[in-house]
Amino acid sequence: MSDTSVLTRTEAAERHRQLDVRTVHLDLDLTLGREVFGSTTVIRFGCTTPGADTYVDVKPATLHRAVLNGRELDATTLRAGRLPLTGLAADNELTVEAHMAYSHTGEGMHRFTDPADGEDYVYTQSFLDDGPRVFASFDQPDLKARYTVTVTAPPQWTVVGNSTGRQVTPGRWEFATTPAISSYLVSVVAGPLHSVRAEHDGIPLGLHCRRSLAAHLDTDAAELLEITRQGFDHYHRVFRHRYPFDSYDQCFVPEFNAGAMENPGCVTLRDEYIFRSAVADTKREERALVVVHEMAHMWFGDLVTMKWWDDLWLNESFAEYMAYSVTAASTRFTGAWTGFAADRKPWGYDADQRPSTHPVAPGTVDDTAQALQNFDGISYAKGAAALRQLVAWLGEDAFLTGVNDYFDEHAFGNATLDDLLRALAAASGRDVHGWADRWLRTTGVDTLRLTDGRIEHTSPDGTPRPHQLTAAHYRRTAEGTLELAGRVPLDLTADATAAPVRPAAATELTLLNDTDLSYVKIRLDPGSWKTVRSSLGAVPEELARAVLWSAARDQVRDGELTPGEYLELVAAHLPGETSVHLVDAVLSFARDFVADCAVPPAARPAALATLAQVCRTLLRRTEGEPDRTGLRLVAARGVINTAADRTQATELRDWLAAGTVPGGPVLDPDLRWHLLLRLCVLGAAGEPEIAAELAADPSDTSEEGAARCRAALPDPAAKEAAWQTLFHGELSNYLATATARGLWQPEQAELLDRLTTRYFEELGPATARRGPALARVLATAAFPAFAATERTVRAAEACLADPDLTAATRRGLVDQLDTLRRAVRARALTGQ
Ligand SMILES: [Zn+2]
Repeated sequence: MSDTSVLTRTEAAERHRQLDVRTVHLDLDLTLGREVFGSTTVIRFGCTTPGADTYVDVKPATLHRAVLNGRELDATTLRAGRLPLTGLAADNELTVEAHMAYSHTGEGMHRFTDPADGEDYVYTQSFLDDGPRVFASFDQPDLKARYTVTVTAPPQWTVVGNSTGRQVTPGRWEFATTPAISSYLVSVVAGPLHSVRAEHDGIPLGLHCRRSLAAHLDTDAAELLEITRQGFDHYHRVFRHRYPFDSYDQCFVPEFNAGAMENPGCVTLRDEYIFRSAVADTKREERALVVVHEMAHMWFGDLVTMKWWDDLWLNESFAEYMAYSVTAASTRFTGAWTGFAADRKPWGYDADQRPSTHPVAPGTVDDTAQALQNFDGISYAKGAAALRQLVAWLGEDAFLTGVNDYFDEHAFGNATLDDLLRALAAASGRDVHGWADRWLRTTGVDTLRLTDGRIEHTSPDGTPRPHQLTAAHYRRTAEGTLELAGRVPLDLTADATAAPVRPAAATELTLLNDTDLSYVKIRLDPGSWKTVRSSLGAVPEELARAVLWSAARDQVRDGELTPGEYLELVAAHLPGETSVHLVDAVLSFARDFVADCAVPPAARPAALATLAQVCRTLLRRTEGEPDRTGLRLVAARGVINTAADRTQATELRDWLAAGTVPGGPVLDPDLRWHLLLRLCVLGAAGEPEIAAELAADPSDTSEEGAARCRAALPDPAAKEAAWQTLFHGELSNYLATATARGLWQPEQAELLDRLTTRYFEELGPATARRGPALARVLATAAFPAFAATERTVRAAEACLADPDLTAATRRGLVDQLDTLRRAVRARALTGQ
């Protein structure tokens, strides 16, 4: 990675002034074996200053030939991914012929061999600056071109691209010329794909996956197509521009780093979204959100593209906001906003309170490496929450009018945040720029604290944001439960720092932001908090309970609530909870942060026992209720995750032998691997069981399961083997993640002590060698989060002092260190 340079904002602006890229013809040859593929690019472009010099971005394995206007270029001048082009004419034609290397990290052209049947698949990921690993280009968002792609592939393969393609002779594919698109959106997916085709509203639709998943795609195709149709209908209702490309293919691809990528007409999605095992309905909702999110990008991101990466939020926040609002309004997942409150917003809140936080719309992003680090919970969750506030303030009609005007003005071109704000201001007559200064140009989370009927409104930078929200008052019923006594809208302008909230006399609980309209931390008055402790589960609205659980969560992270107090809330109110979103989110936090990190080691067995008891109660409560499958799945996983002693291990072994949790769910591959992992951690299973499981189902899921289990064995040789593959091997992105997740187990603290020190010594060199995608795995999934001690904090700080750490490693480490410090503080609160 270090042999390629990053593009700076200044360089991009200069090249934009100089060049006018018109057409690109890209020809790929995928028949050259497993190491490299052929790539020939012909770019036709104008130059406003004839005689000037520039460079084309290309990162080949071997550069064979480059010809500019009939003149052979010296291939040895290629440096750090840039080939100099000198003496440009007004009209130019550049041809670049190269062999490119396949990747195994999900960057560039990823190649994957399916262990289930030995078949090979390839797909591109050109985002953010990995396009030049596939083809030569002027790789920046504001040099759009019309692409014509041709591909030679093995004759039995199917090839999918950004536009309609056809096989003209066996193995030879030609694709229609696209409208003007950015280079980071060019996409090709190929292999012996299984395809389901349909049509909606004149748009050809395709769903594709690898052959070994065919039966599972067929099972889910109707649901996927229904969501796609509902998405198109909704967008065609609210946007004046029709869908701007000629077909819509959704390709489910292996070992994909992100959830999905919005390539025009050729969306790539991680193929875990083709479910091989039983999933809770919340997982189907998550998949629907991803489908609808990528569709929003066809307009916002693809039709109109940000000029430079500092407006990445324009893409992501918008798509994220639309995904939740369209999914809630137009699909069967009407409770999508609860998922936003329970699962998604915490991602934004956490990111926004770390030293690495940044404004939703950063003033400047200097280069592509920095841009990649901003692709986080702030761009997605906080940005979407901010847009939700904007819509609440402007009204949906004015918001959509502004957005449509913006599409009209910039279709097939590029735009900036200011262009959007101007369109919204014109449509609404409001001071949208002033709003943006407070919401998009600042960092941190405001806090609303209720004291004696008044709201104390604070902000990290001393200037509170304007908020549109509601407050709810609850009173006790004769049956002892709670009911909504009233809900009031609140318009908190920045200067109303002590707005009054007047509850009726019998109010037992006043909850600010009960409909979760705003992005803010809330703190309850002492009387209301007392009611929450005794009666959280009795609050009737699911969304309000989500807000309360979220408040409890960030009080633990802020050191205002002890881990023990949080676990008391869980023990009291989770067993009766009906929302799968809430049970899943609360259990995850209670296990991953509270029990594994924030509770002192001596108190951990009791914490696990509490969680196990909660999960067993949930299992008992949902016995014989088929519509509670999701809850049972989450509860069964919880029982497995919290098993800690010999008796519980024996019980798990009985489940494995019987092939089912008593009363269900049946142990499908996902649950079997989950269970086997826990047995391996506890030393109650080992290599023979792992090998048998792998032989029974030799899929990539099983390979990942086996890697996780082997790394988790309480044995020095197993740890060393995992370590060597992780830090010194060539594992793919997914196998590296699986190995990392198995490695650190709080039960094995003694065995892992030496590796904790070694982690900080070997992290830098390993991540420098393997690039940003693997750096994220090694700096986050492989971080020893359970070792929440001052010693680990100091080791992490010392590691960060190394000036040679890559940007991705540094960012991952800074974020993990923040969580680690919070865990150390929480342990101190408990007094051990
Ligand atoms: Zn997106």
